[in-house]
This record gives sequence, structure tokens and C-alpha cells, in this order.
Amino acid sequence: MEKISVKHIELLKVREIALEFEVDGSRISTFGSGGIVKTLVIPKTIDELKQVIDTLMGVEYHLLGFSSNSLISDEGVDCIVTTRQVKGFTINGEYLTAAVGESMHHLATLTAKKGLTGLEFLVGVPATVGGAVAMNAGAFGQEMKDCLSSVRVYRNGLEQTLTPMDLKMAYRTTMLNGGVVLEAVFKLKKSTVAGCLEKIQSNLEYRRRTQPIEKSLGSVFKRVSGKSAAVYIQQANLKGSQIGGAEVSEKHCNFIINKGNASSTDYLQLLEKVRSTVYEKYNVRLETEIKYIKD
Ligand SMILES: Cc1cc2nc3c(=O)[nH]c(=O)nc-3n(C[C@H](O)[C@H](O)[C@H](O)COP(=O)(O)OP(=O)(O)OC[C@H]3O[C@@H](n4cnc5c(N)ncnc54)[C@H](O)[C@@H]3O)c2cc1C
Repeated sequence: MEKISVKHIELLKVREIALEFEVDGSRISTFGSGGIVKTLVIPKTIDELKQVIDTLMGVEYHLLGFSSNSLISDEGVDCIVTTRQVKGFTINGEYLTAAVGESMHHLATLTAKKGLTGLEFLVGVPATVGGAVAMNAGAFGQEMKDCLSSVRVYRNGLEQTLTPMDLKMAYRTTMLNGGVVLEAVFKLKKSTVAGCLEKIQSNLEYRRRTQPIEKSLGSVFKRVSGKSAAVYIQQANLKGSQIGGAEVSEKHCNFIINKGNASSTDYLQLLEKVRSTVYEKYNVRLETEIKYIKD
């Protein structure tokens, strides 16, 4: 893989793709940490996103949505392509088609207001459509794969429309094989506006009650044989443990929160402390749900 060069940047400029340089990574990740991102590429439409992917073929870059599951290295990275401005959606009967950068929280609330049920489980999850598909995001016993009809994926200059089954979507994984999500079609069901809004309220209320409000990346570790990693972390008395500005949340101990000026290194060191303590005490190896973004 080559690094992004002046030649690539000139080609992106000719195509009128928005670029920012020397961006503070802590402005990008929801944990609020990370070094300098030398080039941030910000396509605004699906067509622009495809042009970016084509232009950067063979170049090392990181593709991100809201970066709510992604910890950016303190050393910084050369290039991030963010889809967060690729917006747009249409509703046709019970089908919602949404561009990769739409917010799942926004889509969940707006479909609920139209009496379409199916996305309420994702309220409060700071996910783009692309990040939620790639992670097969889930909550309250439901996952993205349960409400998706198809996904438009771009790979090696070719577009494919794939189903959740084609993509082998499973617990927090989707087999994209280097493909980029462009758009997703959701199959919802007609319901009552009141019923949908009640679910939204109750899910938001549950999140408020059980999850910290400080900056985080959500759950650090995956479930172990169906059991929440939080159970082991709590039993190991790790609640409230701190390294630098990172802390194992008292409210939800599978969250690492930013108490102020936490670095990504603080986060990683705390994550390793939790992992090794749980392993020593229970012989259980915790697997991370979060992604580490590093060149
Ligand atoms: C407060 C809080 C609560 C959370 N609650 C939940 C929860 O209940 N359930 C849950 O599952 N998660 C939860 N999360 C984690 C996170 O929000 C989800 O994983 C979400 O799906 C990530 O979306 P994103 O757009 O931020 O993805 P990013 O973090 O930007 O990216 C995540 C991964 O997806 C890949 N990706 C992003 N866009 C694309 C694309 N277009 N094509 C291909 N790959 C792509 C990235 O390369 C990366 O590997 C929570 C996080 C926070 C901060």
C-alpha cells in the first residue's frame, strides 16, 4: 500500500472533493482522543464517495463514519475518509433507503414519527448507516441484519447489491471483504406512531439510566458466550479503575470513559489492564468490539 501523495490530493481537488489537513483526531472520534489526521477526505454524495475510493485505490486510508467505535492512534494517521456528510434517504411504503452517512438515531426517530417500526432499537447509538452495517450494530436483542433488506456495496470499481445473508452478518461482524457500504435498504413494518414513539422513549430512558454520558466508544468488549463482558469486569472489581484520563465507567463497566484529557494510549492501557485482570481471575479472554485506527 502506498501513502497518500500530492498526486492523489491534486486528483481529489480536481474532482472537487472536500479536504481538510492537519485535523485533530480528538475532533473526529467520539472518545475525544487521537493524534493528527494529516488528510481528512469528506465526500458529500455517494458518487463522490465512489470517486474517492477509485482515486485512492492502492493507497492506505481509514474509512470511518462517526468514529463512535473507533479509537484513533495518538501518533495520528495519514488519511481518513469520513462518510458522515453523505446524506439522503427516501421512504417507499415500508422500505427506507438511506445513504451511508445518515445517522441511525435520526433515521430511527423519523421513521417512528411516520408510524414505521423496526429501527427503534438503535436510538441513542451514534452510528452512521455504514458503521452500523459494518459492525452489525445491535441492542435490545435486535441487530442491523434483522431490519436490513439489502446493502449497496462498492468494491474494486464494481457495485453489488447484497443481502444480510450474502454479507454473513453475525454478532458485531459483517463480511465486507474490503467493500465499502454506499447505501442500505431497510424493511420496516407499519405500526402506530404512538407505539413507535413509546419504544423510542423507553429505549432512550434505559440508555440514560444505564450508560454514562461522558465521551466513550460504547462497549469495549464483545459478549462472551452470550454473557456481557461487564459481568466479569464488575466481579473483578475493575469499576472506576483509571489510567490517565481514561476510566472504567462506574455506571456501565464495559464502557471506558474520557474523564477529561484522556489519550488513546490511556484507553488502550486501561483496556489491557481489564483484559489481563479478567483473564487472570476467570481464565476468560475478552475480545474487543472497538476498532483501533492506526497506520
Ligand atoms: C454512547 C455509545 C453507545 C453505543 N451503543 C451501541 C449499541 O447499543 N450497540 C452497538 O452495536 N454499538 C454501540 N456503540 C458503538 C458504535 O456506535 C457502533 O459500533 C456504530 O455502529 C459505529 O458506527 P460509526 O459510523 O461511528 O462507525 P465507525 O466507528 O466510524 O466505524 C466502525 C467500523 O465500521 C467500518 N465502516 C464505517 N463505515 C463504513 C462503510 N461505509 N463501509 C465499510 N465499512 C465501514 C470502519 O472502517 C470501522 O471498522 C455505541 C457507542 C457509543 C459511543
